[in-house]
Amino acid sequence: MLDNTNNQKDFLIVGSGLAACTVAHILHQNNLSFKIISNPNLSNSSLIAPGMWNPVVFKRMLKSWKANDLINFLIPFYQNIEIKTNSSILSQRLLIKNFFEQQEIDLWNKKANENLTEFLQTPITFSKELNLSECKLTEKVGIVNKAGNINTLQYIKATLNYFKSFYEEQLFNHSALKISNNTINYNNENYKNVIFCEGYLVKENPYFNFIKLKPAKGEILNIKAENLNINNSIINKDGFIFKKNNSEFIVGSTYSWDNLNEKTTETAKTELINKLSQLISCNYQITSQLAGIRPSSSDRRPIIGPHPKFKNLFIFNGLGAKGVMLAPFLANNFVNFYLKKEDLIEDVNVNRFYSTYNE
Ligand SMILES: Cc1cc2nc3c(=O)[nH]c(=O)nc-3n(C[C@H](O)[C@H](O)[C@H](O)COP(=O)(O)OP(=O)(O)OC[C@H]3O[C@@H](n4cnc5c(N)ncnc54)[C@H](O)[C@@H]3O)c2cc1C
Repeated sequence: MLDNTNNQKDFLIVGSGLAACTVAHILHQNNLSFKIISNPNLSNSSLIAPGMWNPVVFKRMLKSWKANDLINFLIPFYQNIEIKTNSSILSQRLLIKNFFEQQEIDLWNKKANENLTEFLQTPITFSKELNLSECKLTEKVGIVNKAGNINTLQYIKATLNYFKSFYEEQLFNHSALKISNNTINYNNENYKNVIFCEGYLVKENPYFNFIKLKPAKGEILNIKAENLNINNSIINKDGFIFKKNNSEFIVGSTYSWDNLNEKTTETAKTELINKLSQLISCNYQITSQLAGIRPSSSDRRPIIGPHPKFKNLFIFNGLGAKGVMLAPFLANNFVNFYLKKEDLIEDVNVNRFYSTYNE
């Protein structure tokens, strides 16, 4: 186990969502010391996210941003965490897409021969061959490889338990930070750096609130459906459904940019029920409805890197709707930037927001 007992730790991590937990694992892999401070009750996003990843943007049949790099990194990353924490987190799944027109099949075949070869199965599958029951599939369907989900709640629980000696549950008070060139003091402990992983609550952070996020509220349903058989696949059509455990399934998700609170709504419930009616044909019971706020950025790219003035303060945010896929690769990019002076990926570099910073 890492010696994390030095007087001055390398990092203070603020937050305990997907961003913070992933940064902690990558720091740990690189023998950097840290403490995590978080009040996990402040944000639901990572705790309720279905945790899915999908390499393909269906609307235009494009590869998701950096899909090859991100997926090749995330699978061994989460597998390694499963071993390290002795928990079950990762499910690799086939993602099924219905086809309604011949045009969609033609586009699929074309893309499968171009830059989506790794992700799109060909030839096209007849849904009968999948032996699924009570789900609404068209006669021919497309299957995406290398999709899946992580159990985000389990990932966070297992991580915080693994790092329990370096974790303190408390509200972080930004005004208690004492920053000098070589050290940062917080509650009488010294750190070389602080990395803020506060999700949409970065708006309350006086150092980084110059970054205006465009957060998106989202809601999901958990349902029970005894007769539904979709094996280990994800069925995607406007919304999505996949199996959580024996007879429980997750149905997602809604997007809303108004009323940014974490309360569930009847409007979202109705929207999810409508999505579900396009996905399955059997009876079901809703067991719970959950809401959270995605920390999406205005240009839909993550936001990572140093503060414009205080070079020992960092941000790791803006994971939006794709935290599971983005966090591992980008946390590694961040640590290589810190340790080896490698460049941050340009699209995610916080410096694109520096012009909005007023001292
Ligand atoms: C309905 C829904 C569905 C989603 N589905 C998916 C999906 O299928 N796949 C996917 O990849 N992503 C999905 N997401 C997005 C995903 O949840 C986010 O990308 C990710 O959780 C963001 O993680 P984060 O750590 O940046 O932020 P958060 O999860 O918001 O974490 C921020 C952390 O900081 C803590 N914090 C903030 N301020 C303070 C403070 N002052 N003191 C102490 N602690 C503080 C919070 O308590 C929290 O622990 C979904 C989100 C929603 C809402």
